[in-house]
Amino acid sequence: MRRALPFAALVVLAVFGQSRAPKQAGNPDLGFEDTPMLPGLPYHVHDPNRPHPSVVTPAVTPGGAPSDAIVLFDGKDLSHWTGANGAPARWNVENGYMEVAPGAGDIATREKFGDCQLHIEWAAPADARGNSQERGNSGVYLMARFEVQVLDSYQNPTYADGTAGAIYGQWPPLVNAARPPGQWQAYDILFEAPRFDGARLLRPAYLTVLLNGVVLHNHQEVMGPTVYRQLAQYVPQPSEDSLVLQDHRNRVRYRNIWIRRLSGSGRPEK
Ligand code: MG
Repeated sequence: MRRALPFAALVVLAVFGQSRAPKQAGNPDLGFEDTPMLPGLPYHVHDPNRPHPSVVTPAVTPGGAPSDAIVLFDGKDLSHWTGANGAPARWNVENGYMEVAPGAGDIATREKFGDCQLHIEWAAPADARGNSQERGNSGVYLMARFEVQVLDSYQNPTYADGTAGAIYGQWPPLVNAARPPGQWQAYDILFEAPRFDGARLLRPAYLTVLLNGVVLHNHQEVMGPTVYRQLAQYVPQPSEDSLVLQDHRNRVRYRNIWIRRLSGSGRPEK
């Protein structure tokens, strides 16, 4: 039979062991410091001193806002939004959604964003009228510049780079995953802002877009800010700017809009 260690020895072991634990090389619970350095990073593989991810509580229901999201529209009011030049946003709010008031103009978030994850739900008017770009047209502009097209693209032919989910004027969506008019549809968008060094473009913007859970763009390089019938071209811009929703004179509805800033876990700036 093994002899038990004296109590004092156990205490010394416990205290010593605890204080030493984070620095131990080869503790599979805490990580390792005798492993190779990750290329370009100040961390070992499985580094015990690497910052831990912050805890985020996911939503109970799919499409809901996680605990760290900024809710830009919860169905009640436009307090997070303004019209042009800081004037009040004059879109209509009822029954848990906001609706474009034709002629009221685009609306923009008061808060500004760079790299982000965006969830936004929309519905084109149920009584589909007009054709091509005149049917259920609106748009989601990241940084007030880069339009992900909103359009009734259900059995409504138009030019490919103007389809719902297109990076307008540049890239058609990989597929047309549009639902019929009147039905709610969801965009989930990952956006990486362009980077500049003074006037010089260091890195273009990138967009990943899902419509109703279907991938439309997979880390697609963006050619520049959205323009009509022209070639997009980058010009120096702020590192953050408003999210803008387009008034294209069609009564498109939006609901459940939330956004998350993308950073953290000790990542170096891209
Ligand atoms: Mg549009």
